[in-house]
Amino acid sequence: MTIAAVSSAVVIGLSGHPVRVEVRLSPGLCGLHLTGLPDTTTAGIRDRVRAAILNSGYDWPQEEVTVTVLPSNMPVYGSTLDLAIAVAVLAAHGAISLERLTHTAFLGELGLDGSIRQVRGLSCAVRSLITSGIRSVAIPLGNVSQDIRCAVIGATSLTELVEQLNSDAPATVPTALDPAQGAPLDLTDLPGNHAARHALEVCAAGGHHLLLIGDGPATMLAERLPGILPALDDASLAEVTKIYALTETPWRSRRPPLCEPHHTNTAAAIFGRHTSGQFRPGAVSLAHAGVLFLDQAPEYPRSVLDGLRMPLETGEIVLASWQGTFILPARFQLLLATPPCPCSGGNACQCRPVEQRRYLQRLSRLRDGIEVTAPIDPFDRTAGPGEPSSAIADRVAAARARTAHRLAGTPWRTNAQIPASELRTRYHLDPDALDPLESRLRAGALTPSILTRMLRLAWTLADLRAAHRPTRDDTQHALRLWQGEPA
Ligand SMILES: [Zn+2]
Repeated sequence: MTIAAVSSAVVIGLSGHPVRVEVRLSPGLCGLHLTGLPDTTTAGIRDRVRAAILNSGYDWPQEEVTVTVLPSNMPVYGSTLDLAIAVAVLAAHGAISLERLTHTAFLGELGLDGSIRQVRGLSCAVRSLITSGIRSVAIPLGNVSQDIRCAVIGATSLTELVEQLNSDAPATVPTALDPAQGAPLDLTDLPGNHAARHALEVCAAGGHHLLLIGDGPATMLAERLPGILPALDDASLAEVTKIYALTETPWRSRRPPLCEPHHTNTAAAIFGRHTSGQFRPGAVSLAHAGVLFLDQAPEYPRSVLDGLRMPLETGEIVLASWQGTFILPARFQLLLATPPCPCSGGNACQCRPVEQRRYLQRLSRLRDGIEVTAPIDPFDRTAGPGEPSSAIADRVAAARARTAHRLAGTPWRTNAQIPASELRTRYHLDPDALDPLESRLRAGALTPSILTRMLRLAWTLADLRAAHRPTRDDTQHALRLWQGEPA
């Protein structure tokens, strides 16, 4: 005789009630018997669970299957128990490891085809489970939302859920992270390119956005940015884990994510979508708390480049569908790379200057939001090894610690996040330090918005120097970084 037990919950009125579902397989006539439930609900559950298991390609046990729901005889009207019963049957039959079920509760309605359907009132059921000590829930993907405050496995079908449960990487918040998992790529592999490396360090320290221009190893640089950024703090890790729980790949690292879409991706792939009850985060959300890298940036459709302005300003993306609007976090560091001209011809390039200008002009609507521009040089195999990422990461961490000390008690974590009004009042500069910026503003060479960005950048440069506040050198250095001139 085999027994499997899983947690679930039922909704009665407006409140949730945790229940336990026990499945017993015993020799006897092949069939499914349900006890502890009102008779009116058992026929529907029996049909859905049996059909969903068979139509998902699993065997139905050739034994007598007895399902008991405890406490018994609760007035159950919904279908939230379907998923728990199916999972318990599959576990008793050996298709799912029993130990995977210990701290997870299962809620959701099954379709006859094995799909997991969204159910109403699920959040109050989840709340009752969290109160009772449950640490993670497996629910329909369409029910996954920001207000579920525990680890979530979202699935659209029984097969998808069983695969997640049986994989080595269940989509739950890990309690201990393995620091050795997937060692980050190291900047020591990237010799030369001093301007681009310096730009990367400044942007990592202040959370600034970066544009790289040239025919060089842009992808190598981008892939090494997470390795010099500080590790995700608990709050960011929880958000990133929730976002990735909506995808097939759970997030298991303290390292900030790097999301690298392609310019042929659809707008839905970049911004996310919400259709037929299914939530699919786009690249802007998959890059949350990390880096969004757009290579060959001018090749992206105008609608995508324009669409990036909203998440850049608000740190969120709003997904609209006929079911309403949904908000996903999307606060990322933007890293754009572009060849200098449309032909990517390197030395053979015959593009006219006007064509080159027009090509880069496609990024003009984003340029206002980008603090640092740097040239990238072709990969130079003859140069010695570059400075290792660990040394750069130490300087970045020291600069961030200075920033955190200054911003203590505020909601901002990086210099890039400080609002313009606060910069001018709370974090003011000496007139001599301000002069290079204000004289350009008066001459019409800077907009007030760029001036604000240069102030933020100057603070980062001061933090990297371990200086008390920015000097004239820092504001001049900031202007050179903005214009992509040699430091
Ligand atoms: Zn060209």
